[in-house]
Amino acid sequence: MNNVKNGKVAIVTGASRGIGAAIARRLASDGFAVVVNYAASSKEADTLVEELKAQGAAAIAVKADVSNADDVRRMFEATEQQLGKVDVLVNNAGIMKTLPLADTSDALYTQTFDINVRGTFNTLREAAARMNNGGRVINFSSTTLALNMPGYAIYNATKAAVEAFTHVFAKELRGRDITVNAVAPGPVATALFLEGKTEEQIQNFAKMPPLQRLGQPEDIASVVSFLAGPDSAWVNGQILRANGGVA
Ligand code: NAP
Repeated sequence: MNNVKNGKVAIVTGASRGIGAAIARRLASDGFAVVVNYAASSKEADTLVEELKAQGAAAIAVKADVSNADDVRRMFEATEQQLGKVDVLVNNAGIMKTLPLADTSDALYTQTFDINVRGTFNTLREAAARMNNGGRVINFSSTTLALNMPGYAIYNATKAAVEAFTHVFAKELRGRDITVNAVAPGPVATALFLEGKTEEQIQNFAKMPPLQRLGQPEDIASVVSFLAGPDSAWVNGQILRANGGVA
């Protein structure tokens, strides 16, 4: 951690665990004041905030279900009151449960679209009204969208929607000097990817990219750090597929 504060505020949704927690650590190290958003894992979120504060960063944990518009509005209000107006929004929160389309229940369809699509919509709508000019929005797609594997129809459909939001929202923010991009990771060793897979299935995924390993949360956090920082100023409306070359 360099401890040099940059005076900017970043919200990372779904930052209690997995990729989001690595992003929160990285952005804190980059000098951002960080909001660690979570829906259920309060213990993990509080522990992460204590870790970041111990390293000299400003950080708060904010419970908000991103699929709930009122929760999201309150998250932005809490952020403004405690840290200041938002400069960077990372829409990382998401779920993935793979099943053949024919076996997918109405409840799973609704839950996946509510968190992955409505959740992103809710934060983008709030961001349009409240973010500082010169800011950065980083959405989360997935490389599975390019692989078209059986079982991924609903999840991929949600990520296709997120990519569509990314392209259009970048243009709708014309004149604000805010970039809107998305990261599309390949397989990353988190609960979302590992849960429900056999060791053999995990190894098969690990062999897919020419770099011959699973991604780690820090691989993705580095990409988010770039997109959140000054060096990406001319990258806008793009989908960055960070996947070791798998597709
Ligand atoms: P993860 O380890 O399962 O973590 C998910 C995070 O999202 C948790 O912090 C969780 O917090 C939070 N979350 C879930 N539902 C939420 C809600 N309704 N409101 C707010 N937060 C919520 O997942 P991950 O692997 O880090 O995935 C992060 C993002 O990367 C997702 O968008 C995923 O689709 C994308 N991605 C992942 C992979 C991969 O292989 N891992 C590949 C491509 C794309 P709580 O525990 O508090 O609910």
